[in-house]
Amino acid sequence: MNVIIIGAGPAGLTAGLELIRRSDIKPLLIEADSQVGGISKTVVHRGNRMDLGGHRFFSKSDWVMDWWQSLLPIAGGEGDPIPIHYHRQSRWIQTSRATPGADCMLVRPRLSRIYFLRRLFDYPLKLNWTTLANLGPRRVARIMGSYARARLAPRPERNLEDFIVNRFGEELYRTFFKDYTEKVWGVPCQQISAEWGAQRIKGLSITEALKHAAGRLLHSGQVTRHTSLIERFLYPRLGPGHLWEMAAREITNHGGTLLLNTRVVGLQRNDHRITGVDIVDQAGQRQTVAADHVISTMPVKDLIAGMSPPAPHDVQQVAQGLLYRDFITVGLLVRRMKRHPGDSDGVAGQRLPDNWIYIQEKEVRLGRLQIFNNWSPDLVADPDRTVWLGLEYFCNVGDDLWSLDDAAFTRLAIQELASIDLIDPKDVLDSHLVRVEKAYPAYFGSYAQFGVVRQWVDGLANLWLVGRNGMHRYNNQDHSMLTAKLAVDAILGGDVPREAIWAVNLDDEYHETIEHPDDRTAPQQG
Ligand SMILES: Cc1cc2nc3c(=O)[nH]c(=O)nc-3n(C[C@H](O)[C@H](O)[C@H](O)COP(=O)(O)OP(=O)(O)OC[C@H]3O[C@@H](n4cnc5c(N)ncnc54)[C@H](O)[C@@H]3O)c2cc1C
Repeated sequence: MNVIIIGAGPAGLTAGLELIRRSDIKPLLIEADSQVGGISKTVVHRGNRMDLGGHRFFSKSDWVMDWWQSLLPIAGGEGDPIPIHYHRQSRWIQTSRATPGADCMLVRPRLSRIYFLRRLFDYPLKLNWTTLANLGPRRVARIMGSYARARLAPRPERNLEDFIVNRFGEELYRTFFKDYTEKVWGVPCQQISAEWGAQRIKGLSITEALKHAAGRLLHSGQVTRHTSLIERFLYPRLGPGHLWEMAAREITNHGGTLLLNTRVVGLQRNDHRITGVDIVDQAGQRQTVAADHVISTMPVKDLIAGMSPPAPHDVQQVAQGLLYRDFITVGLLVRRMKRHPGDSDGVAGQRLPDNWIYIQEKEVRLGRLQIFNNWSPDLVADPDRTVWLGLEYFCNVGDDLWSLDDAAFTRLAIQELASIDLIDPKDVLDSHLVRVEKAYPAYFGSYAQFGVVRQWVDGLANLWLVGRNGMHRYNNQDHSMLTAKLAVDAILGGDVPREAIWAVNLDDEYHETIEHPDDRTAPQQG
């Protein structure tokens, strides 16, 4: 049976490896990029490794957690089970005696904060003395006043702004939500639906935060936080791509084929079946490969545009109207970060201890800052003497940011980071810029009519849409993996209704905190 998999990101590689492990099928994976991993790849620049976004490996699904460990064992526990805690969930994981330098996952503590007013705030935002002192009495008074007004006279909830203001008040909305959300999505909060807020910012209100804070004050002195409750996640020693490279290796070692630098440009269709896939390789050679089943992780918009004969007009229209947010990340190698009040010496007097920091300062367009040394020291060629940073910008292909050439963009990035007192430009040693198109599928544009596309595609008996852009779903790796697994279950004869694949949802229980919009599976983001 010919199974063609479009894309060798987490979804495509999971599908490929499941077919290899569970059947005699030898899939053909077609990947446009020169390396595997999709957005979860690791980019290597002169021995320094960039993770495009900072990928925490944690899932509510045991299947996903076990699958990861089947490729990379967890190092560092003498072979004993150890507890990890994430998003209010605790679980035991089996460690191995893997030695440093091996193919393994590390267990990493999570620390992320918000940088605002040149100060660091807890993330998720906590109602505590540090927050109050950082904000200052006037701003706190304004926050409380506007919160009271919002409770007494709530707005009709037409959009995300109304949704947040009703729950947190106008001042808090303007201080911590508005600019960051607009940086991420590039549209005013009034243009984002209120349902989006309901989905991402669940179960939290100031009243609840106050109760929490009061509880903490009452019990202060009595509560010591058990170390196992420090949030931790798994992380491949050489970045997320490390795991996906292992998956690709197992597929090709067992007879699967992986074509890199090869793009799918069309799908041949005979009524309700896909008969073949048109591909173009690096040299521009075009050919059609026959298919019994196609698993697609390529953007739905491109997939529909490539249908031959074309999809019905209404399906094409909705697909064409799907929008995305693009992403540029600049790796900056510096001697050190600047010291920060309240953070003593940070790590080794060299850097802040955070994995990543949300940049809330309004005067810069920088969205988030990764400190790769704190993810895994092995991401950095010389972790003791250099700090390897990732500066993340959200943009749209063709806009003013995207149109800057790499050198001009890098100059902007350095200047911005220096202007908010996080580095001294004299300490910059090296840089590398990566552009990621369609990093975020947007829930605006024609998304409200997405059902039209879905219904038509579900009628194509041997086409399986899985993964992030494959399903136009703002997801994490575990969602991509579980949708891919279900598609394979179906191809191997399981009774899997299409609805079950669309219904995979792993984000629905994280409601401890106010999430940053790009921070889904958690008080985390992706
Ligand atoms: C900033 C950021 C932070 C994130 N943080 C986390 C996190 O902490 N934890 C987590 O689990 N997830 C995180 N994610 C999400 C994670 O990156 C995705 O869920 C995951 O990579 C999606 O896998 P996928 O295979 O579905 O899609 P992708 O990773 O997009 O892979 C699709 C692949 O298809 C290829 N392709 C596309 N079109 C074609 C074509 N026409 N022909 C051939 N190949 C094609 C692409 O080149 C790509 O390799 C984050 C994402 C972002 C953007």
